[in-house]
Amino acid sequence: MEKDCIFCDIVSKKIPTDFLFTNDNLVVFRDINPSAPVHLLIVPKKHIRSINELTENESNIVSEMIITGKQMAEKEKISDSGYKLLFNVEKGGGQIIFHLHLHLMGGWKVE
Ligand code: AMP
Ligand code: ZN
Repeated sequence: MEKDCIFCDIVSKKIPTDFLFTNDNLVVFRDINPSAPVHLLIVPKKHIRSINELTENESNIVSEMIITGKQMAEKEKISDSGYKLLFNVEKGGGQIIFHLHLHLMGGWKVE
């Protein structure tokens, strides 16, 4: 756990947050300031700053995050209409919380 990291505090339940899913490696919760009708964050329990800091040994974490994103999309019933899975990387990439996370966004009306 990293000091002064809001997502480490969420993972360790220091900041109470409703988890939609959790297992040994990750937690899933709703974004506090959603930019889509459904906006979830898939967050590894391990503190990794960003995709830039990811090592080859940790690539299994990312594949688990993506599969969990797919499963959460099914649970939230947004699979058929479609969704985005997004990593913001560092400041220029729009990252504001420097603890790795995958955005799952969807639920928009489609014709
Ligand atoms: P990013 O720009 O990729 O770093 O995204 C960080 C996201 O975390 C933003 O969409 C924020 O709205 C969201 N966020 C920040 N604090 C919280 C929190 N306490 N609970 C849920 N989501 C949060
Ligand atoms: Zn952290």
